Amino acid sequence: MSEKREVILSGIRPTGRLHYGNYFGAIQHFIRLQDEGQCCYYFIADYHALTTITEREDFYGQTIEMLRTYVACGLDPEKSVIYRQSDLPCTAELMLLLGMITNIGFLERGTTYKDKLTKLQEDPKSEGNPLSYGLLGYPVLMAADILIVRADKVPVGDDQRQHVEMACDIAQRFNSRFGDTLHVPHPVGRDALRLPGLDGASKMGKSEHNTLDLLDEPETVLKKIRGVETSTDPLPLEVESNDPDIIVPRMPGGVGVLYRLLHLLAPEEVYLDFVGKYRRKEKFYGTLKQTLAEYVSAFNAPIIERYNAPGNDEASVCDFLRANAKQVTPVALNMVERCRAAIGIGHSLYRA
Ligand code: ATP
Ligand code: MG
Repeated sequence: MSEKREVILSGIRPTGRLHYGNYFGAIQHFIRLQDEGQCCYYFIADYHALTTITEREDFYGQTIEMLRTYVACGLDPEKSVIYRQSDLPCTAELMLLLGMITNIGFLERGTTYKDKLTKLQEDPKSEGNPLSYGLLGYPVLMAADILIVRADKVPVGDDQRQHVEMACDIAQRFNSRFGDTLHVPHPVGRDALRLPGLDGASKMGKSEHNTLDLLDEPETVLKKIRGVETSTDPLPLEVESNDPDIIVPRMPGGVGVLYRLLHLLAPEEVYLDFVGKYRRKEKFYGTLKQTLAEYVSAFNAPIIERYNAPGNDEASVCDFLRANAKQVTPVALNMVERCRAAIGIGHSLYRA
């Protein structure tokens, strides 16, 4: 490859099984960038997951399961550096340094933080977790994840767009204060995906319990898709375009996610056929659900097979985690040292 390789960084929290939002919002881009030969760092964000827990959880077990699913989807630990966030503890040091120059008012404008604040104000018992210092500081930790490897691009879904923008702001603030030290990444493109949940909520999410998962077996797929609410759909909506970005948001809750999934998985003629049925006010949701369930199960089948393949077990995951953590550690430590020097603390004496 003659052009300079881009540095790519992204992570996923081990808060449940990987779902279709994770795949089409993030993982499919991870794989494409890996296969283009870019310099890819993909991590399991176990520190970030701690803002969600209400009691002790098996993050280790969930991390291993997620890494086996990464591999089953096509991520290759020989081509991408795949690691656990907590195996790179110097990220926490960079977060601390960045936190010193980050205003509280700036963090209070974070949508994740604001959403949780609103929920708690409406119903103090709605969330198991209090508003923690960690949740307010989530964007600072994410900035540290990104900046510590000097990432150029951060492939994430639309829900994470603001956090990447915040990382750019934090890097710029650091540079203007202490000199040009941190590399400012590209912001997330406007075409980033936000897949709705099976319950019709605006986002499918592990913590929302409204997901269609990559490891779901055909029976579960059918049950979940049959359960999508379509009865309240006031047919028809006038839609003039075949572009799903125009059609889907106009469709109410459950219908929107069925169409979005069909558009992602089925050949165009199948998708357009169902758009036609929608316009003609035909009764078709039973067939749509059945057809979609078949496409989903066909998509999941090879992933499930590779997930269970010999060689994709805990021992092999631990082997590549160890090797890959060794690869990313010097890159990250170098960045932390440069920041320490820029601020004036000076290099760490014990790390020398
Ligand atoms: P949680 O509910 O615990 O936050 P999540 O489902 O939101 O889990 P994350 O680990 O927070 O998943 O996000 C991992 C990646 O998947 C991020 O890049 C995020 O933008 C992307 N992603 C998550 N949900 C969706 C979605 N519904 N549509 C598109 N991308 C998504
Ligand atoms: Mg999330």
